Amino acid sequence: MNIHEHQAKDILREFGAPVSNGVVIFSIEEIEKKISELKSKEYVLKAQIHAGGRGKAGGVKLIKNKSDLNIEAKKMFGKTLITHQTGPEGKKVKRVYIEEASDILKEFYLSCLIDRDTSKIAFISSTEGGMDIEKVAKETPEKIFTTKIDLKTNGPSDEELEKIVSIFKFENEQKTSAIKLVKSLYDILIKKDASLIEINPLIVNKSNKIICLDAKMNFDDNAIFRRPEILKLRDFNEEEPAEIEASKHDLAYIKLNGSIGCMVNGAGLAMATMDIIKLYGQEPANFLDVGGGASKDKVNAAFKLILADDNVKGILINIFGGIMRCDVLAQGVVDAAKEVNLSVPLVVRLAGTNFKEGKEILDKSNLKILSASDLNDAAKKIVEAIK
Ligand code: ADP
Ligand code: MG
Repeated sequence: MNIHEHQAKDILREFGAPVSNGVVIFSIEEIEKKISELKSKEYVLKAQIHAGGRGKAGGVKLIKNKSDLNIEAKKMFGKTLITHQTGPEGKKVKRVYIEEASDILKEFYLSCLIDRDTSKIAFISSTEGGMDIEKVAKETPEKIFTTKIDLKTNGPSDEELEKIVSIFKFENEQKTSAIKLVKSLYDILIKKDASLIEINPLIVNKSNKIICLDAKMNFDDNAIFRRPEILKLRDFNEEEPAEIEASKHDLAYIKLNGSIGCMVNGAGLAMATMDIIKLYGQEPANFLDVGGGASKDKVNAAFKLILADDNVKGILINIFGGIMRCDVLAQGVVDAAKEVNLSVPLVVRLAGTNFKEGKEILDKSNLKILSASDLNDAAKKIVEAIK
């Protein structure tokens, strides 16, 4: 789960990290009342969307006169920002963060994440702040420093802390402050089950203070049940409506951009199904794992979810009946197909528990269903059918 910058900064503040004062507003009317909490003469308006790259897309605006706040905020609200992280459709701005402006001397980069390859916690530090870190990694890898540490209850050792901040070449108070920040990030990662915390840029201002000027945080969905205070921060506006609907039915669904809708049980089988669709020259419209013991209703919901996507030109159902029974699947599909008046080709491949009963239900349904003998056959048939 992702959260907004202003929420991430609240968490940073709670853990003692240096952040500027700011207030979040959901409408222009709130400016007047909330702005009194800020002390600076200059402000920065920051569009709150779950995507980076806002600066270049007009989502970060320096305001030199208080009187311009209203005018500029008005322009920002409702604007659709297209950044390299939003996709071509962009994201609509529904909340704006007003922050005290900083006098930036230099921008740095600092992040902390779970490195799944090594089962360690990785800190990435760089002198190239404010930039796209993937680009820095590609073009000037020597300017990025990664420190991997074992999971510990007390956090990184003094030696590791030194190592993480060494690239910044800080001294005295700045160094102490940076080390304290690293400890805070580690604490947040552990205590809030974050999987990524990225401060880009981390700055030194003209008074030589270090400040987290931007903050991105990502949380582990599988741990969110024990972090209700994080779950409360979820913003449904930022999520794909189909994915919200899927989560209500406990379906693992990710929308993709292709034209073949897939309904599969088991994540591994779902990946294999997507691969084979690609092999035959088409692209999957989604990843969808209906899970082990899916009920008829769940299958019904899953089927409707696939069809709600306008890009879907055909559907491939690939079920291996283990705990899941093929007849339950078949009934769910038939019910849903009749309800929604199925108009795109449907290929079904069933194998395993109650496969005969399942096939019988499909055959008797009078729906135009192409059955397939194996996965290869299924992929070939659906790709041909949508041509
Ligand atoms: P994004 O990563 O989405 O582009 P950032 O929060 O990193 O958004 O802002 C982009 C740039 O805007 C920063 O690199 C910094 O130069 C400037 N900026 C952001 N917040 C402030 C602020 N409070 N004061 C001064 N400059 C800021
Ligand atoms: Mg940034």
